[in-house]
Amino acid sequence: MLKLNDPMIQELLKTHPKGGNEMFNDVAIQEILMGITNDEENSVSIIKCMLEGKTTDEEIAEETEIRLNIVRRVLYKLYDAGIASYKRSKDPETQWYTYSWKFEEKKVFEILDEKYEKLSQELNESLEYEEENMFFVCKGNHQRYNFEEASENNFTCGECGSPLEYQDNSAIITELKQLKDRMN
Ligand SMILES: [Zn+2]
Repeated sequence: MLKLNDPMIQELLKTHPKGGNEMFNDVAIQEILMGITNDEENSVSIIKCMLEGKTTDEEIAEETEIRLNIVRRVLYKLYDAGIASYKRSKDPETQWYTYSWKFEEKKVFEILDEKYEKLSQELNESLEYEEENMFFVCKGNHQRYNFEEASENNFTCGECGSPLEYQDNSAIITELKQLKDRMN
């Protein structure tokens, strides 16, 4: 069930992400990076560095002054999520491999689109559910019941036993419709 007070909804609705460094001002994008690496601050520095053309983990570590093992850890997490890719090349003299990393900006926008799509779907389902059901609540602010659930409970609260009261959900429906309008 959609939580109307989820701040992520507002962030998604506000989001108009542009490419390049500006995207990091976007809270919805910050949330995505946080969800992937659990380390938003270093992720943003590392990605900005890639956007500036630094490609190897050593270059990135030097430029950002982030420890090399942290740079690598973030890069691999981004790689797992498809947000970074790398090319491996062998130095003909030393026979050592070099990894050139690239930030996959397109994938970030794909993830954002998916979130938006999911929210839109949840919104439609919630609206349908609110419109097709009657609701009952406990005065003690306990659970909310639809008609079937309430009648199974003899119209009493399962938590405290108080009688349930009919709830006018038209304000919820209005709010869901407004959200829906803002999404289109
Ligand atoms: Zn109750």
